[in-house]
Amino acid sequence: MSSDRRGGRRAATILMLALVPTVAAAEMAPERFSGERAMEWLHAQCDLGPRPPGSAALEELRQMIERHAADLGLRCQRVCFEASDPLSGQPLEICNLIVSTVPTDGARLWLGAHYDTRPIADRDPDPANRDQPILGANDGASGVAVLLHLMELLAESPPERGVDLLFFDGEDSGPAGDPDGFCLGSRHLASTWQDFSSPLAAGDPRALVLLDMVGKRGLSIGMEAYSSRFAPELTLAVFDRAMQLGLSAFEARPATPVYDDHVPFLEAGLPAVNLIDFDYPQWHTVEDTPEQCDPAALEQVGRLVVSLVYDRMPGF
Ligand SMILES: [Zn+2]
Repeated sequence: MSSDRRGGRRAATILMLALVPTVAAAEMAPERFSGERAMEWLHAQCDLGPRPPGSAALEELRQMIERHAADLGLRCQRVCFEASDPLSGQPLEICNLIVSTVPTDGARLWLGAHYDTRPIADRDPDPANRDQPILGANDGASGVAVLLHLMELLAESPPERGVDLLFFDGEDSGPAGDPDGFCLGSRHLASTWQDFSSPLAAGDPRALVLLDMVGKRGLSIGMEAYSSRFAPELTLAVFDRAMQLGLSAFEARPATPVYDDHVPFLEAGLPAVNLIDFDYPQWHTVEDTPEQCDPAALEQVGRLVVSLVYDRMPGF
């Protein structure tokens, strides 16, 4: 009798799914991405002060990310290595963080952002500020804020596909104009992720979507030139999705090339796209503060990322 009743209920459920597939899909999707919630995470980072590589504040942020993952039941691993500080020549420990949904094997989508901030405001209009560290509300905290809120949605609604969140250290660490001093963490990860000891070794990454400087008020993201040149299919697919979602912060127009954390992965043969609005007068100045940022901008980027996670792009 009980099995009959279960059978009846199952038949009814199947019928309901067949009749109203959109309702069923909506039930599986996570709660809407909240720009306000992401903004709280942006503030939480900036409240720590500037977070240059090797600083106590960056270690505090690292622990904040690890605690957040632990609270949500997500796996988070540190991958550290010794580097030399491109500005001072002193030894410098660089630590990437990797947050993964389980299982950790199979086809994966990688989402990345750098969580360090620039040690010097070398673009500041006031020469007296140019040896000061920046707060990095947009350049650093914005992409991380989107990923920290996304972690909450991943925990609440585990996605069918595998997802790894890559928090890069040492992105913004070099003297201006010298690419070798930048992207320390991502270059290390791009060259070691297949090593036996790497938390990423079992996975089969299909694409990296990088978020950098995604928080400014009046956000407008074009197709960054390295992305569209070396990963044209991925870049088009991501911008197509943004258009389908009606996200006005994204415009399918050519945009300036930026040497950023996606480049080492492009060089390694992984399709990678950098979502960045590089038109930011406060870039590498002490004015890169939360006042420049806007929950609405974070929400546009978050909605795109949620869509890429829960509604897989063909081929990626
Ligand atoms: Zn920067």
